[in-house]
Amino acid sequence: MSATIVNGAEIGKRIRAEVAAEAAAMAERGVVPGLAVILVGEDRASSTYVRSKRRACRKAGIHSELQHLPDSISQDELLQRVGELNRRDEIDGILVQLPLPDGIDEQEILEAIDPAKDVDGFHPINFGRLATGQDSFVPATPLGIMEILRTHDVPIEGARAVVIGRSNIVGKPVALLLLHSHATVTLCHSRTRDLPLVAREADILVAATGRAAIVTPEFVKQGAAVIDVGMNAIDDEGLIRELFGENPDRLADLDKKGYTLTGDVHPAVAEAASLLTPVPGGVGPLTIAMLLKNCLRAARLRRMGGA
Ligand code: NDP
Repeated sequence: MSATIVNGAEIGKRIRAEVAAEAAAMAERGVVPGLAVILVGEDRASSTYVRSKRRACRKAGIHSELQHLPDSISQDELLQRVGELNRRDEIDGILVQLPLPDGIDEQEILEAIDPAKDVDGFHPINFGRLATGQDSFVPATPLGIMEILRTHDVPIEGARAVVIGRSNIVGKPVALLLLHSHATVTLCHSRTRDLPLVAREADILVAATGRAAIVTPEFVKQGAAVIDVGMNAIDDEGLIRELFGENPDRLADLDKKGYTLTGDVHPAVAEAASLLTPVPGGVGPLTIAMLLKNCLRAARLRRMGGA
């Protein structure tokens, strides 16, 4: 078997077009959805993510504004900024780009965001609502994973799903979404015993560990749908050749950027899986698309009575 390779860019494009159409309809009714992004400090990766999110907002007709603050900002000042955004009616979503600098209590900042504007879905109220099966804001990457499974008609009800990684951003919420869709879910982590054996039970295998290529063919049942969330920058030419052979794009990446991006899943898994998300170009493009969807939802619920 050779897996169908998911085209995340194409699915993301469809969702962004749906969001743009809905945002235009909302604008006609006088509501322009608004996202405020707080970026603290000069972390390069964070700045790049924020730029991509804001560009996607602009293209979709969502107003976005950036508060770029120095990393000398105090906890109290940051709490005050969040409080101001909570009070502004035209701001529907508040996103605090993580990680925050040392010395800032990240959890306290996230908990200060009005849960009705928590488009990242990181507030404990939203997490609790998700856990108890109520409507909530759900983090974008898990939503993107579910969208991929739906788009490819992967049966979820009654399926065995194994999620490797138990973070609050990816592993736990995607396990809950799969559970709510009636999969039988196993959540694994770094202390799971006999991980390949457990993973091999999966009809749906989600890898979200941040460990390059740890999911090898011995983890995968023939015909499983494999979702690779990992985004790992690797600069070891030997490893790049081992994973990708003489692939000129990968070697060009190494020349140009000094690294290439790879997932948690070894490329050889494509021989056993029925469906596989590539890295890059699989789950990644869905993450921003689903964030836009969350912004729209926040505006609809808060300013249009859910209409
Ligand atoms: P975290 O570092 O928060 O969590 C990683 C999880 O993987 C932990 O639960 C850890 O276990 C588990 N783990 C680590 N090593 C192993 C191992 N050898 N065997 C089994 N489990 C292991 O990462 P995130 O969830 O934030 O992100 C995971 C990956 O997904 C990263 O590569 C990240 O860059 C990527 N990502 C991609 C996104 C996208 O849009 N495509 C969005 C978000 C993340 P334990 O709890 O025991 O430590």
